[in-house]
Amino acid sequence: MLKGKTALVTGSTSGIGLGIAKALAAQGANIVVNGFGDAEAPQAELRALGVQVHYHGADMSKPAEIEDMMKSAADKFGRVDVLVNNAGIQHVANIEDFPPQRWDAIIAINLTSAFHTTRLALPAMRQANWGRVINIASAHGLVASAGKSAYVAAKHGIVGMTKSVALETATTGVTCNAICPGWVLTPLVQKQIDDRSAREDISVEQAQKELLGEKQPSLQFTTVEQLGGLAVFLCSAAADQVRGVAWQVDGGWTAQ
Ligand code: NAD
Repeated sequence: MLKGKTALVTGSTSGIGLGIAKALAAQGANIVVNGFGDAEAPQAELRALGVQVHYHGADMSKPAEIEDMMKSAADKFGRVDVLVNNAGIQHVANIEDFPPQRWDAIIAINLTSAFHTTRLALPAMRQANWGRVINIASAHGLVASAGKSAYVAAKHGIVGMTKSVALETATTGVTCNAICPGWVLTPLVQKQIDDRSAREDISVEQAQKELLGEKQPSLQFTTVEQLGGLAVFLCSAAADQVRGVAWQVDGGWTAQ
């Protein structure tokens, strides 16, 4: 379905970003990988799906590096057809203890980076009269939790930006939507489970159960494959009139 198209997924060396990149590659899209850590193994996994892969290690908190990544993607593949704004970090602390630098980093990486990638990707999408912007928000884009003021602010922000971009592109073949996962067992969440296990002096298994029990009525983690499946659907013709939604994949979290 996406043969000949190019998908750029920020933060795709790990977790949800890598899962979505694999799902898009399985549909034939060439992939621009971004993110920190081991970039070789994810690229090899994607190449094994028979697509071309290009890596750019831009730090999503640095606008100049984001510009360079978008330029390098266009130089390599012509344009970005599918933009998945996924890179994100977390820090948990009550607001009076929240380190200002952590606040700035969360807003920059989880929200402002999507402003830059979107503004730079849209002109070519408009010209082609086809494009998909998929923002990985969160259940925390719709409801809050204590201790996550920066994350909740960034995720509510990206849900709002999604709606504005959807309206600005409404008469074109470009759509913009957000996906709002509940708990997904990635390194980002594993750290919160490990912190809880240490804080409450309970086993990691018990901490995992409590984490799910507190928020996610299904008591099961959302998987990266499920999120990849939704991203593929949002790229399909069936989703041409899906515009500006914030789609929960959260085991019932935000239905409560
Ligand atoms: P993860 O830690 O597994 O992956 C994060 C990715 O972002 C990695 O590739 C990392 O290298 C990259 N990254 C981090 N900082 C970066 C920076 N400054 N520049 C470039 N890349 C950077 O986390 P994940 O759980 O896969 O999270 C991915 C997205 O999904 C995030 O936006 C997160 O908020 C969102 N999300 C996660 C969950 C969950 O339960 N895991 C739930 C809802 C939403």
